[in-house]
Amino acid sequence: HAATEASAEQLDCVTLDGTPIKLLANINRQDEAALVARHYLHGVGLFRTECLYLDAPTPPESDRQLEVYRQLVAALEGRSLVIRTLDLGGDKLPAFISRRRESNPNLGLRGLRFSLAEPELFSAQLQAIARVAGSGDVSVLFPMVLGPSDLRQGIELLRRESEAAGLDRLPPVGAMIETPSALFALPEILALVDFISIGTNDLTQLMLAADRNATELLETSSVLHPSVLRAIRQVVRACDEADREICVCGEAAGEAAIASLLVGLGVRRLSMSPVRSASVRYRLRRHRLSDLEDLAERSLAADSAEQVAQLLDALRPGA
Ligand code: PEP
Ligand code: MG
Repeated sequence: HAATEASAEQLDCVTLDGTPIKLLANINRQDEAALVARHYLHGVGLFRTECLYLDAPTPPESDRQLEVYRQLVAALEGRSLVIRTLDLGGDKLPAFISRRRESNPNLGLRGLRFSLAEPELFSAQLQAIARVAGSGDVSVLFPMVLGPSDLRQGIELLRRESEAAGLDRLPPVGAMIETPSALFALPEILALVDFISIGTNDLTQLMLAADRNATELLETSSVLHPSVLRAIRQVVRACDEADREICVCGEAAGEAAIASLLVGLGVRRLSMSPVRSASVRYRLRRHRLSDLEDLAERSLAADSAEQVAQLLDALRPGA
């Protein structure tokens, strides 16, 4: 077994002064499950289930999805799995759904709202998740949550399917914080969930009004913008106070320098593309938590993303 021969350097993600950080995988397809063990990760922090829909000519039946989730649970060998419910809409529309063309798909019917508008499709997925939930460490994550109302409706559908599947309680439920609306509904959201996952890709795009796919906007749309960092800080504080687990699962979590800043802001779980985890672990092992906290304080007080980028540069080990 390769893991038994791995060095601490490969395995343990701890800061120089011993604060453990959990690294998890973002995966988009079930066959990526093998990467979790290969990169010494704790589990899957984000399984984007869109591929089940986008590649299918017809709506994927609940049984077919159950098969996929079962294989994933088996491949993870006891590690945790966060299944995000379908995050369709915008430019991610399956062939079997015909909708009027939206004038701005990015701000159209997306995420949880989309799912609630397609109750049959949504219930089929929740049924499959409920049926696999008893057989492993499986949690459910709702995308693009706006507040307690849409979240409650999603949880209600999950409850129905969980009862039908014979579960005596709900699987752990999480909400993604990736809309500005969710930031202003944190107490209400926290009262309904077991954990939070921050999606920095959408949160940055929506807070800074900058298309996440437009390269000409990348400089200014950076997650390093102090307003975005303050939002993240606020979510971390609210989760700590409410005693809820928090993870960051946007691409920023897989950038070694930004991951260091996130740890300084109080984040202890980072979910990323598995191939990025080695460099994140390497970097975090070379920092003292107090230095990262200091970096976070100065970044929160900065004026611009550029200034924060300079602060990050100055803290590079060996810089
Ligand atoms: C995010 O928005 O940061 C996120 C993780 O979700 P996705 O990239 O799938 O929109
Ligand atoms: Mg998102």
